[in-house]
This record gives sequence, structure tokens and C-alpha cells, in this order.
Amino acid sequence: MPSVRFNKVLIANRGEIAVRVIAACKELGIQTVAVYSEADRYSSHVRFADQAICIGPAKSARSYLDQASIVSAAEITNVDAIHPGYGFLSENAGFAEVCESSGIKFIGPSPRVIRLMGVKERARAFMREMGVPVLPGSEGVLNSPEEALETAESIGYPVILKASAGGGGRGMRIVNGPGELAGLFAQAQQEAGAAFSSPDLYLEKYLAAPRHIEFQLLADEYGDVEILGERECSIQRRHQKLLEESPSLAVTDEQRREISAVLRKAIAASGYTSAGTVEFLMDETGKLTFMEVNARVQVEHPVTEFVTGIDIVKSQIRIAQGERLRDILPGPLELRGHAIECRINAENPDTFQPSPGRITGFHLPGGIGVRVDTWAYTDCVIPPYYDSLVAKLITYGSDRQEAIRRMQRALSMFIVEGIYTSIPLHQRILADPDFQAGRFDTGFIQRLLK
Ligand code: ADP
Repeated sequence: MPSVRFNKVLIANRGEIAVRVIAACKELGIQTVAVYSEADRYSSHVRFADQAICIGPAKSARSYLDQASIVSAAEITNVDAIHPGYGFLSENAGFAEVCESSGIKFIGPSPRVIRLMGVKERARAFMREMGVPVLPGSEGVLNSPEEALETAESIGYPVILKASAGGGGRGMRIVNGPGELAGLFAQAQQEAGAAFSSPDLYLEKYLAAPRHIEFQLLADEYGDVEILGERECSIQRRHQKLLEESPSLAVTDEQRREISAVLRKAIAASGYTSAGTVEFLMDETGKLTFMEVNARVQVEHPVTEFVTGIDIVKSQIRIAQGERLRDILPGPLELRGHAIECRINAENPDTFQPSPGRITGFHLPGGIGVRVDTWAYTDCVIPPYYDSLVAKLITYGSDRQEAIRRMQRALSMFIVEGIYTSIPLHQRILADPDFQAGRFDTGFIQRLLK
């Protein structure tokens, strides 16, 4: 039995993830409150929620990032909890604290854990101490370009400079030799300061052609942790994921068992609760090294839901209600079949320019093994102010080949008129012999587009 039972949850987000969280709440019999900016008045998350409150103008700084407006909306509507989705305030420890001090449960890890995981070089140090393999790099924040130079010399070029507080692939610089370091250090510092309001940098070894592989976890408030297998996220452009799948062809059963065991221990020791992801890079030899923790639900969570049969968002809510993982999970974890997700973005597939505007025709694919998570509909307007994700198309098959074929046919039945989308790009990726054979790394898209 849960120790508390939420009657009403506010979703501090927009777009497909807001709709996803509303769906989970409906299934749990929980009332929902949507918040929206003036640009999202006609969004489906507003329509599907039981109540909706406008929290400000289009600009996210004055709406979806406005903590005071969101907390007032929560107080006026008397909610028990806030689900932050991903992006926006989801990894903002200060916001989690404000929720707590207002007597509202934040559906996510505690502020202390968000702080630990959100400062990337601190998370690295913690994981290293816990026996998780970590790439060689600086011990903490780099105090000067001279210190960066010294560290780079000791681990060998190339290295990558990263923002401590970074995200979304920004603030990173690849350094190929000592001559470039000082200039790139200044650039990265400047970009990090502007984007994350902290100029702190650290550095680590840069891998030439790695795979990005991440492990999904759930942890309850009693120290119980479950690792729900991994996702392969190497198909990315400019460090932004485009297509994800689970499981990864590159991870062996033994490796999955080993990493899951060491992660279970590390995550339990950190006091982590709720859902989260531990991201790794895999080098050419197949070795996995820790990169960072995302202390929130991720865009690509549905592929894991397909292969595990576990509803990650409902699990987050039930964990926040004080339920035990062993009561939430359906039984011993079993990974079955294969799932793929394509992110359908409103952008030109050739130039990658954003393509906001009115969707004049919209038809969703369906049928066995097909899932679409979206907020869009015929005649809706994709606003230019937010990320360009219009829909996520996810397919499941008994094996990878079936999942690929199913994705190809689902993409061919997905009609979006009036704006450009990334559908043609996904068709190219799926038809590529190297992709089909599972021979790829994070440089795949760059090679494909050449
Ligand atoms: P962010 O949090 O900004 O998304 P990440 O640390 O998750 O940044 O890295 C994003 C992507 O950048 C990775 O998926 C990978 O493609 C690339 N990357 C990051 N670190 C390295 C590294 N040390 N070597 C090679 N590629 C890297």
C-alpha cells in the first residue's frame, strides 16, 4: 500500500511529455493540472488535463521556467505533487527544494541527489569511488587553462572540455593538441557561463568513435534499485539523439549483468530515488565507461517500456507515493524483443532548420507493435519557441529486424503536412546497410549525410 495517495498532480511541462504524464495519472486515477504558456493555449496537454492554468507568455523563462508561477498554480489548485517531465525544471535542485518547502512532493530525486548528479565532475568522482569505470580526466573543476593543459598532457590528446552543469550537447569542445587548448577553454567557458550560468569546466579523454549506451534505473525510497537494461543512443547529430533502441547489439549479457550489479550498488549508496539514466560511452574494444547521470525521465524511455513491460512514468509516481519497487514491478525483470524510437522533429531533413508552423494534415500510424507519443493534431500550430519534437514513433518487434521493418512501414504511414519533419531522414537511416547490420557509432549520421 502506498504511504500517501496523490489526488492531484501538476505537470510542470508541455508537449508530448506532459501528455505522457497525464496518461499515467489517468491510469492511476489521479486528477491532473496542466500549466501552459500563451503559445500553448491550444495544446493537447491543456485539453487532456482536468484543470489548466496559464502561467505566462511564450518565452520559457517567463512561463515553464518561472518557479513562482508554477508553485502558485500548484497551490491554487491544491495539488499533492508536481511532475517536472524532462528539460525545463526537471533537474533544478532549487525548484525541488521550493516544492518540498511548500509541502508539494517533487516527483524525482531529492534536491541533494539532483545536486550530486547535476554537477558532472562530482558525479564522475562519486561513480569512480563506487567502482564504476570512468574515463580518464580531471579530478574536479579546472581552475585555469594551465591546469587543463597539464591534465590533457597527462592523459593524452584528444580530450574533450565539458561544462560541469552542461546538457543538450552545449559547452563541449574537442581539443586535438596543446596549441588549441587555451582558445577552446575560453570559448567553452563563455558558452557554459551563458547557457548554464556556471562557467565551470572539466575535461576527459575524447573517444574517436564511441557508442552512446545508457542504462535505465528505478529506485524506491527504501534503497531498492532495479536496472531496466540499456538503450543504444549512438544515432545522433551534433550530440543530439535522433533514434534510440533497446537492447543494444553491442552489449553482451555478461556485460549487462556486470554493469547492472555495480550500478545497483552505486545508485543505492547515493540515496537516489525515482527514475533515472546512467549514460556510458563504449570504445572500440567494447569497454563501457561512465559519462553522466540524467536525474529525470528521458525522451527515449518508451523503448525500455516496450522491452520490459514496465510503465516508467507510473513507476515514478508510485515511488513518489512511497510505494516499494517490489510492489510496483510485475515480477522478476525480463527483457523481451526489441524496440526502436524515432524522434519526429519539426525540421527540414536536409538543412536541419526548425520548421514551425501549422500542421494542415496529420495521420498517425497504428497497428501491432506501434506507439506514438505526441501532443500534435490536425490544424495545430508548432510554436517556434520550444524544442522541435513533434512526436515520438516507437515500434516493437520480436527481434531487431521485425522492429526495423515495422518502423519502416509505420514511417510510411505517418503523414504530417504543412511543415517539414525528420521522417525522410529516419527512412534513410533505417535503409542504411550499416545501420541494419548494427555497425555504427556516434559518427554514423555525419557519415550518412556526407
Ligand atoms: P549533454 O549532457 O550535453 O547531452 P553528454 O555528456 O551526455 O552531454 O554527451 C553528449 C554526447 O557527446 C555523447 O552522446 C557523445 O556523442 C559525445 N561525447 C561526450 N563525451 C565524449 C567523450 N569523452 N568522447 C567522445 N564523445 C563524447
